[in-house]
Amino acid sequence: MRSGRGRRGLTHPAASPRGFRGSFRTDPDTLAAYSGAAGPFRIAPTAVAVPADADDVQSLVEWAAREGTPIIPRGAATGMPAGNVGPWLAVDLMPGLGRVESVDPEQGTIRCGAGAVAAAVARAAATAGFVLPCLPSSAERCTIGGMAANNAAGARSFRHGATREWVTGLDVVWADGTRSVIGGGAEPPARMRALAADLTARLGDVRGRGWPLVRKNSSGYALDRFLPACDPVHLMVGSEGTLGTIVGATLRLMRTPAERAVILVGLPSLDAIPEAAAIATEVGASACELFGRRLVEMAGLAVDPLARDAAEGAAALVLIELEGEADQVISGLARVRRWTAAGGLGSVEATDDERRARLWEVRHAASPLIARAAERGRRSSQFIEDSVVPVGAVPDYLRGLDDILERAATEAVVFGHAGDGNIHVNPLVDVRTPGWRDRVRTILEETVALVAGLGGTLSGEHGDGRVRAPFLDRIWSPELMAAFRDVKARMDPAGLMNPGVILPLPGQDPLAGMWPGS
Ligand SMILES: Cc1cc2nc3c(=O)[nH]c(=O)nc-3n(C[C@H](O)[C@H](O)[C@H](O)COP(=O)(O)OP(=O)(O)OC[C@H]3O[C@@H](n4cnc5c(N)ncnc54)[C@H](O)[C@@H]3O)c2cc1C
Repeated sequence: MRSGRGRRGLTHPAASPRGFRGSFRTDPDTLAAYSGAAGPFRIAPTAVAVPADADDVQSLVEWAAREGTPIIPRGAATGMPAGNVGPWLAVDLMPGLGRVESVDPEQGTIRCGAGAVAAAVARAAATAGFVLPCLPSSAERCTIGGMAANNAAGARSFRHGATREWVTGLDVVWADGTRSVIGGGAEPPARMRALAADLTARLGDVRGRGWPLVRKNSSGYALDRFLPACDPVHLMVGSEGTLGTIVGATLRLMRTPAERAVILVGLPSLDAIPEAAAIATEVGASACELFGRRLVEMAGLAVDPLARDAAEGAAALVLIELEGEADQVISGLARVRRWTAAGGLGSVEATDDERRARLWEVRHAASPLIARAAERGRRSSQFIEDSVVPVGAVPDYLRGLDDILERAATEAVVFGHAGDGNIHVNPLVDVRTPGWRDRVRTILEETVALVAGLGGTLSGEHGDGRVRAPFLDRIWSPELMAAFRDVKARMDPAGLMNPGVILPLPGQDPLAGMWPGS
């Protein structure tokens, strides 16, 4: 195999690696097709490889390591912060690694390839009476590898945690082309043991070193979970393709709950959000979701026969879901009713399947609704879309954001996971007006400062990607940043795995590739 030009960053592969059985393409149409992803960032790769299976991934990575070719592992490209695009070799893991095995009912686990679509795994689980409770809204499209790489989460992560809580084992091709299975009782790779020993000796408990004390985090490397027991799965989950390529996963499943009920509550002011989250915690709710006022208007909920009793006149809505045995759900509902009655809050309940599904549809329609609202040159742009703050700080965060967006004369749609303090903010950026890029840069800078001041983190489930990487040192202390750099240096010494993601390259522009041509 020859490359157009030697080492890192300048490699233009000229032909398919010897022995590689998948497809390997460099034609302009293919590069253009792989330049995009769900977010606003477009960066063409230098080549696209589609491995035939996991062994083929290993051959490809071995070759890339020899050649010094950086690679971007890629699932369904539903990720938003540009972790799945970049000027390197894109490796599409969906077509060759989509296998889903049947559920092991005794263990309550399921194995699949990294390219398996999350919803296909969920359907296989459902046939055996199980659920995968961390499913994101994008489950019909995204892959299990992408979920693990981003530590994706869903509405039910409020009670059940993000993807990391449901991954018991991973099959990984490392940056040098070696491969191992981690988790499930296997001995961690030697370099991970050495890394954990060194970082523990240096830092002790990272939570005492300025770790953001928030309920969700998909930013940086999860040292808080990796170090205590040197659990390699926790280091890989959330590593966004920067430490290795996941080729297979074993997932833990949960028995399908006997009953579920949903209650939609109108809040008189943003200040009521922490109280709603506290009630949801008290009743052991599975979800506590937020709809901002703009989304309520866009969805027409104040005149919707199903939702209007909650939505009319509300400053925001929360959707609380209860699940479990019938008596748990009934007593939880009674507690929520006492709260809404005491505060005179409008609410709507759904206990039957059809009404519950309709209330959830309102929540899942958020992204398509926002995309449709982006009209007349305005584009729904995800660049501050995933911050997390302590739940008590959510009202201050939302008010601070309002100020930032008002100064920039930019409207935004807000929704997300109220109970976790993880707020999705989608500015509608008018890319026809001169200076839009400067406005975006200012919004981004000021939002990072706001999140840092509130003790938050920049991503709760979407990952850092390329857009947030240059800001990590505003959130994380110098010693934790140094620890992140050590992780990268030990696991990927040549820097070939998704360079510029999580840790920035020198001079990296966070907005590189945003809405090109605008
Ligand atoms: C409409 C919509 C709704 C969404 N809702 C949610 C939600 O509710 N919750 C949520 O968490 N996210 C959500 N997302 C974001 C996204 O869908 C998830 O983060 C998802 O897990 C990404 O999976 P993917 O297969 O598309 O990965 P990609 O976008 O292809 O990749 C994402 C990152 O993972 C890396 N990666 C992918 N596969 C591998 C692998 N096998 N090995 C190593 N690294 C890999 C990539 O390099 C990249 O850094 C949503 C996105 C959209 C468009």
